[in-house]
This record gives sequence, structure tokens and C-alpha cells, in this order.
Amino acid sequence: ATSERLQKVMAQAGVASRRHAEELIAAGHVTVNDQVVTEMGVKVSSKDEVAVDGVPIGREGKRYLLFYKPRGVITAVTDNKKRKVVTDYFNDFSERLFPVGRLDYDTSGLLIMTNDGDLTNLLSHPKFEIDKHYVAKVQGVPNRPALQPLKEGMVIDHKKVAPAKFNILSSDRKKQTAIVELTIHQGLNHQVKNMFKAVGFPVLKLSRTGFGNLDLHGLQPGDYRELKPHELQELK
Ligand code: URA
Repeated sequence: ATSERLQKVMAQAGVASRRHAEELIAAGHVTVNDQVVTEMGVKVSSKDEVAVDGVPIGREGKRYLLFYKPRGVITAVTDNKKRKVVTDYFNDFSERLFPVGRLDYDTSGLLIMTNDGDLTNLLSHPKFEIDKHYVAKVQGVPNRPALQPLKEGMVIDHKKVAPAKFNILSSDRKKQTAIVELTIHQGLNHQVKNMFKAVGFPVLKLSRTGFGNLDLHGLQPGDYRELKPHELQELK
């Protein structure tokens, strides 16, 4: 069997990026045939059993990542205009990860990346009413009555938009802007922007801050982390 550097094998197995794999090795989390390896550059073959924190790395396991998509990135696996795409952040993974749902190019926030097509279908199904939380900066200074239609359900582009919940977090009279939190459970195209536009407060900036029980706590734009087993359970 051909041998390859441990960190490369780990990255290809989808455990971590190569750099993160090196950190895991240096920190003593990685064993080869039950021996802790902390030096870099050790070569392993397919006959060697590599484990991280005692868990053997699999070659084609399912991966579930929570990604903080930055603004200015396309939610797709390729772009014909050569703009940055979300999968560019996951080149070190051997699995072919794809996004669950979509965020606009200029929207930042929480996106699940996975190679599990079943989960993608499940979460994308309209019947599966998972709450998505957004924080929008809008043009204008709305009061609660002005935003009431958001709560009642509206029709936009001949499509029924389900009732949403909102919360005005702050407003700036001088700049004539406000920060509003909106919770929806559908995934229509440009839904949040269209809803705010329909009530006369166009969105200037948008971020998805939550998906079901998941949030972006501790992450910066461009960061990602594995979903914890209980988080995955709660999604399904
Ligand atoms: N609604 C929008 O308008 N844009 C997004 O990216 C997500 C929800």
C-alpha cells in the first residue's frame, strides 16, 4: 500500500483541513495503531488505523458542518463568473460537500454544509417547518404596526408567504435605519428581502443568525465547525 503524510490522510478523510489536522496531531489527539503521534510528517498507509480522540477516521463518512457564510460568496458548488463559492472553503475535504438551502450572494450567515443528500431533501421539504432566524438592517424606521403584515402572512409574486415573527431590535432616526429580527420557516427565493420590501422597508444588509436550534455562537465569517451529534439529532 502507498503511504501518505498523516495530515493529508486526515484531510482526505474529511476529518479536518490539513492545517487543523496538524494542530490535532501536535496536540496529541491523533493515534496511529493506538500509538499517539505528535510529530509531523509521519507516513501512514491504508493498513494503518488512524483515530482522532479514539474515533477511527472513515473514508466516506457523512459530514455535517455549520458554516458562517461571509457576504460576497455564492451559495453553489461552481460559478461561471468565477466568483467565490461556498465550497471553496472546503477544498481540504475529500467528501463533496454541498450547501443545504441557499443564502444570497450579499447575505451572510448560517449555512449547513453536508454530503448527506437525504438530510438536504428532508430540510428542504416545505412540510419541514424549521425556523430560520434573520437579522436585517432596513431602510427607514418602522414601528410595530408598520410591520404587522409580516405577522399576518402576505402574498408576494403570487406566492403565499407564511406568517412570520419579528422583533425590532433598534432604530437610528438620524440615519433612518433600523435593525429587525425576523423568523420564518419557508425558503422562498429572496423571501426576507421581498417581505421587508413589501412593507416599505427595504433590506440594506441581511444575515441569517439561526437555523432551528443552531446559531453562529463563537464563529466568525468564513469559520465552520462540525455539528454535534445531539444537534444533528434535533435537526432530523
Ligand atoms: N431571504 C433573502 O432575501 N435572502 C437570503 O439570502 C435568505 C433569505
